[in-house]
Amino acid sequence: MLGLAGVPLGARFRFLDPSPQACAGALGELLVAPLDDLDGVRELVAGADVCTYEWEGVPAASAREAARHVPVRPSGASLAVAQDRVAEKERCRALGIPTAAFAPVAGRAELDDAASRLGLPAVLKTRRGGYDGKGQQVVRTTADLDAAWGALRGTPLVLEGFVPFERELSILAVRAQDGTTACWPVAENLHHEGVLRVTRAPAPHLDAGLRDRAERLVRALLDDLDHVGVACVELFEVDGELLANELAPRVHNSGHWTIEGAATSQFENHVRAVVGWPIGPTDARGPAAMVNCIGGMPDPTTVLAIPGTHLHDYGKAPRLGRKVGHVTVTAPDDDELERRLAPVLDLAGPPG
Ligand code: AMP
Repeated sequence: MLGLAGVPLGARFRFLDPSPQACAGALGELLVAPLDDLDGVRELVAGADVCTYEWEGVPAASAREAARHVPVRPSGASLAVAQDRVAEKERCRALGIPTAAFAPVAGRAELDDAASRLGLPAVLKTRRGGYDGKGQQVVRTTADLDAAWGALRGTPLVLEGFVPFERELSILAVRAQDGTTACWPVAENLHHEGVLRVTRAPAPHLDAGLRDRAERLVRALLDDLDHVGVACVELFEVDGELLANELAPRVHNSGHWTIEGAATSQFENHVRAVVGWPIGPTDARGPAAMVNCIGGMPDPTTVLAIPGTHLHDYGKAPRLGRKVGHVTVTAPDDDELERRLAPVLDLAGPPG
């Protein structure tokens, strides 16, 4: 999607992906190599003006190698903080951004200690590499501690207090090289089994004070990291407060609605920012929703017959639980959005 946004701007792409089937191959030169293959990284950046990434799991050593040859944006600082849940939360706390209570856990005794300090329920997570609810276990009572430890041991962990949130939100922002920052409207996200299913943007019925707080916190983080490009902060709304859950130093699934729903999409603005061009306005064009297609694509004839729908098929092989596309729905007002969204949810939405 970065390629789809960048090609019309005149940008040309070379992609590095471990899979020869990577759908980006349709939009530029595709190098097939593991992401930790430093020869592959050198070939990737040869002759390039800039290197970027759309996954925070990119190995730090690969980002460092790329940075020896071309500017890497966002920089290694954003990557390092976003790759470690403890570093992420410490950075938030240092900037006065509230998070769930947390404690790093390296051993079994430390887990007991953390559980008694934080209280239960809590969520045990791997510090690194977890996504879409993978690498985490909910601990409801002390009887669950052994099972959670058994499932995740062997890698540094963090125990987080369980947040009884009212809803999940996210805020996306783009920061240009001169520090100019623009925020897209806060989005509301519905997850099922840890995986994002539906985003509504702008988030319905959001208190203006909370919206301003979300904007302030993402700006503070991006300024602190001297971040260049798009980033997303996932938030919990609880008791009239926002807690930061995760920082994604990249374009984000909860920003896919911006392709049709905003004046400039997250993908276009990311390309503009990392290349060094001025960023575009981020206002919503109206209410929008995005539904992930998970495991397979719905029938285009049926989906596209619903007014205001746009289908994005990533060209990925269908596989249980795999995000293979999304549908965006736009409408002139909130009621009409819900009317259009309902049949899309039946066709492509979460089970139940
Ligand atoms: P994460 O990988 O941290 O984004 O977590 C995936 C999903 O698990 C989140 O979107 C929440 O729905 C849920 N979750 C994660 N952490 C917590 C927490 N501390 N309290 C309650 N729910 C959580």
